Amino acid sequence: MQYDYLIVGAGLYGAVFASRAVQEGKRVLVVDKRDTVGGNLYTENVGGIHVHRYGAHIFHTNDRRAWDYVQRFAAFNRFTNSPVANFHGEIYSLPFSMYTFNRMWGVVTPEEAARKIAEQRAEITWEPRNLEEQAISLVGRDVYEKLIKGYTEKQWGRDCRDLPAFIIRRLPVRLTYDNNYFNALYQGIPVCGYTKMVEEMLTGADVQLDVDYLENKENLSGLAKTVVYTGPVDAYFGYAYGNLAYRSVRFETQKLPVPNFQGNAVVNYTDRETPFTRIIEHKWFTFGRDENGQEIPFTVVSREYSSEWKPGDEPYYPVNDEKNAAIYQKYRALAEKEHGVIFGGRLGEYRYYDMDQVILSALDRYDALDNGR
Ligand code: UDP
Repeated sequence: MQYDYLIVGAGLYGAVFASRAVQEGKRVLVVDKRDTVGGNLYTENVGGIHVHRYGAHIFHTNDRRAWDYVQRFAAFNRFTNSPVANFHGEIYSLPFSMYTFNRMWGVVTPEEAARKIAEQRAEITWEPRNLEEQAISLVGRDVYEKLIKGYTEKQWGRDCRDLPAFIIRRLPVRLTYDNNYFNALYQGIPVCGYTKMVEEMLTGADVQLDVDYLENKENLSGLAKTVVYTGPVDAYFGYAYGNLAYRSVRFETQKLPVPNFQGNAVVNYTDRETPFTRIIEHKWFTFGRDENGQEIPFTVVSREYSSEWKPGDEPYYPVNDEKNAAIYQKYRALAEKEHGVIFGGRLGEYRYYDMDQVILSALDRYDALDNGR
């Protein structure tokens, strides 16, 4: 056989798995149905601005191994995500920190903020059963109504009472004046773009783009001993149990002849009426400068619209409600029985993975294999 591994999908999981296998002297073929590498990490260079074509990706992790791993493929800057929430023109700092509570209630000290939150969360006296109850019990009703409800219902297309509590537990709540969105020790953006980073990861592997694996499954699978499949697990099995729900995202991207459109990389529109969830101004991921440190005189912005996935759309987020979790368990049982195929990544495992989790899971999956070493 020509290859040890056929990797389906040149996104982060596939690229990390490929780099690990190549490093061990394995022969690797990576195919992707798109004509670009990087999956949803793909960035396009528009006059020096790395435009995150499939949504903002900010690398952050608490895991030293994941951080050290990415450093091998790219130089990272010191970008720290501090999104701003715009609720009908009122501006709040995210995540929920002393800046937010000061703006919301006029409180100044952590003690005053804690008292206010305690007062408001008292309405939930039981273990939160859904996102709404979880949010109120974390930060109280005022923050929930202005900064969580509208945004979440737009992003997920579902009522907050029908969404699982864990989604909102991703967001930090702090009684400090720290508006770093992530509770992460390490954070940054690759100075030369994610596309370049993924290209580096793929060094030494054969890469074929514009190749649809599912349409050529038999032929392609015959090229390698093991297949690593990172596409949607339901598509792999021909939607035998019906399709899993995903959220899709549509971006309206514009290049504008102004140097500064919104003054921040990410502005969330947390009201229900504004049809998009957020606007990304890509240049601020690199402090308004190109790779040579030159200031860029124009800007590129993307409005992000969330929608329910339908056939033909790009899947982005697995919808982790009970119904879909149950359907996924059935696919997972099939996947476990599929001889010689590894299912990995956000789509292959139907999990709301962050980038560092994808990296660690690909490395661990490779290392758990018996490669005759
Ligand atoms: N969220 C919110 N208001 C915001 C930002 C996030 O209510 O301004 C909630 C929303 O439910 C979202 C979740 O927090 O789905 C997780 O947000 P995160 O920014 O982690 O989502 P991602 O960047 O992965 O789209």
